Formats: sequence, C-alpha cells, structure tokens
Amino acid sequence: MLTVENTLKWLELFDAKIQAEKDYLSELDTPIGDGDHGNNMSRGLLAVHDALTKQQPTDVQGILKTTAMMLISKVGGASGPLYGTAFLEMAKLSSTTLEVGPLLAAGLEGIQKRGHAQVGEKTLIDVWAPVVKAVEDGTLDVAAIEAAVESTKDMQATKGRASYVGERSIGHVDPGAASSGYLFTTMLMAGV
Ligand code: ADP
Ligand code: MG
Ligand code: MG
Repeated sequence: MLTVENTLKWLELFDAKIQAEKDYLSELDTPIGDGDHGNNMSRGLLAVHDALTKQQPTDVQGILKTTAMMLISKVGGASGPLYGTAFLEMAKLSSTTLEVGPLLAAGLEGIQKRGHAQVGEKTLIDVWAPVVKAVEDGTLDVAAIEAAVESTKDMQATKGRASYVGERSIGHVDPGAASSGYLFTTMLMAGV
C-alpha cells in the first residue's frame, strides 16, 4: 500500500538509479533509437526531485500528480508522456485506493491508451504488463522484473523509434523496458 513516506522513498530511489544508469540507458537507445533515453529520464527525474522538494506534498495523490506533471513536461521524447500518463492515472485512482495492484494496473492502461502498444512490441509495456500480473499474484520479485526486461531482447520493435530499424531491433534490450525495470526494483526497495 502506498503511503506518503514509501512513495517519496520510491521516487527518491528511482531518481538515484536513473542518474546512476543514465549513460547505460542512452547506450541501449543508440542502436535502436536516437540515444537519448538516459538523458530524457535523467532530466525528468531531476525535475520530479526538485518539485517534490519544493512543494512537499502531504498526500500520495499530490506526490503522484506532481510526478506526472514533471515527467510530461520535462522528459521530452516518447517516454515522457507515457510515464507521465501512467503516474497521472495512478494519481486519479489514488483517491479511491492506495493498493499498488490496482494503481499499477491503471497506470498500464493509461500507457496503452496513449501509446497503443500491446505486449510483445518491445516497449515498456513488456515490463509493466508482467509486473502488474505478478503484483496481482503476489509473486513480484527482482528476478521476475529482470526476466521481463531481458525478454525484450529477442523481440522485434513495432512501435516507437525502434520500429524504424525493423529486424535490426532484435538482439537489444529496449531502453524503456530497462528504465521501467528500475522503476519496479526501486519500488520493491522502498517497501511499497
Ligand atoms: P524517443 O524514442 O522519443 O527518443 P525515449 O528514447 O525517451 O523517447 O523513449 C523510448 C522508449 O519509449 C522505448 O524504448 C519504448 O520503451 C518506449 N515507447 C516508445 N513508443 C512507445 C509506445 N507507443 N508505447 C509504449 N512505449 C513506447
Ligand atoms: Mg530516444
Ligand atoms: Mg528522442
């Protein structure tokens, strides 16, 4: 269940992980995209950190909403509106429930509505979808997250920039899947 404390902790850990893996995420985006995913996410999470420090929201909904707004306005690239929409949908539902399962499911639905990607198209959906299922089943752990990230390696991209390189997208982990992996491993670390 989300609380003000663990949600802030989660975002702090996610920010730190993104800053640490910024170059790696951009490297993943180089053969199959435009090499900016790490920079995009780094800029976004820095803005999230600054906004949360300044505003000090006192409820979970405020934290999720501020995060969404910063990601939508600062990330640029396809990933910003997608992550931002996920957090916005979670924010909306958080007035009804603070359970992680339904919140992440709402986030996933938002990403799919916005980006029209299905499972197997080598996007962040390929991490979000199995994670939502694992949370529902009570089986989410780091190994499950890493397996989902790794599963994107053998997929051919049919959405986003990576689809432009066609079959040559096969053999590389999807950068958005990798950053989503960090989102969920840091969620576990935060004890959410
Ligand atoms: P851009 O491709 O605009 O440079 P980024 O590099 O920040 O943006 O993000 C690329 C990531 O966005 C991809 O690795 C993929 O996971 C994700 N992505 C792109 N298009 C979609 C989509 N339609 N649905 C879901 N995820 C997508
Ligand atoms: Mg890119
Ligand atoms: Mg770009």
